[in-house]
Amino acid sequence: MDLALLDRVLAEHGEPAYRRRQVWEWTARGVASYEEMTTLPKSLRWALADEVPFSTLEVVTQREARDRTAKTLFRTHDGHPVEAVLMRYRDGRRSVCLSAQSGCPLTCTFCATGQMRFGRNLTASEMLDQVLHFRRLEPVNHAVYMGMGEPLLNYESVIASVRRLPDLGITYRRTTLSTVGWMPGLRRFVDEVGEPIRLAFSLHAADPGLRSELMPVNDRYPLEDVLAECRRYVALRRRKVFVEYVLLAGVNDSPARARELAAVLDPRAFKVNLIPYNPTGVFEASSREAIARFKAVLDRARIPATVRLTRGRDIEAACGQLAATR
Ligand code: SAH
Repeated sequence: MDLALLDRVLAEHGEPAYRRRQVWEWTARGVASYEEMTTLPKSLRWALADEVPFSTLEVVTQREARDRTAKTLFRTHDGHPVEAVLMRYRDGRRSVCLSAQSGCPLTCTFCATGQMRFGRNLTASEMLDQVLHFRRLEPVNHAVYMGMGEPLLNYESVIASVRRLPDLGITYRRTTLSTVGWMPGLRRFVDEVGEPIRLAFSLHAADPGLRSELMPVNDRYPLEDVLAECRRYVALRRRKVFVEYVLLAGVNDSPARARELAAVLDPRAFKVNLIPYNPTGVFEASSREAIARFKAVLDRARIPATVRLTRGRDIEAACGQLAATR
């Protein structure tokens, strides 16, 4: 729901200020239409239905994987594709993976989103509407800004959307921003955002040459600067930074690469999340054995590390597979 448009329309109708809160509270609770907002006068419900589209996003397709991960392809009013994913875990966790941009201007070689055309930054309302879509299916309790795009390239709108997530049942502690290490946004995030939002950093190679090959953004913002900024976050927020490391067979998955990684990370500040590569046509995925060997090196260095469960791969909903093709 375009909250700026809602404000304008309510004002035009001469409605009292508390209407805005009423509409938002109903919406955040997951109602499916204005019709269900029974504390609003009927005439106002009709007027809103006419003048303020209930969602800024139109659903194009919806698919469900064997593990019950759901992926929705949306379209913005001006035709840009956006994907979001709902991950359902046995312990009751319901985690929405949402997109901050349509497409992505960065060109990380292993990520399908980087291969599609960049559209534009999404508005805060467009990000909230991704979450609200799933909220209408069932209660949700985690959000990860790990869909399409680079959240810190869309700083203002991302933070504005994060600040409304608690109304939808998602606390700051259960909200994670993931970044390639876009320094201007990261500095602002560390300096300006006091809320205990989790930070995840896509590292993928500790060697500068290899990292630049995989992620051209590394030429612009070198790893050591980003890691220093991450340590500043840890010192201020007293929460570890999650390091994401996608394992590419024969590229960055050897024990030597693991030692390089361990050498740049302080175990008190970082926790590593090893991500099995989801095929996007360019690299090969590391074997189970290679993943275990890599993790064993981190274990010996006492760097906390886990291997991320792959979800939704059969519907191209897994990490790095969002390309808005179907
Ligand atoms: N641009 C931000 C937000 C996207 S997060 C960032 O990169 O952090 C998406 C995560 O999935 C990132 O850690 C990304 O590196 C990882 N990823 C990308 N392509 C992948 C693939 N093919 N298989 C597994 N993980 C991938």
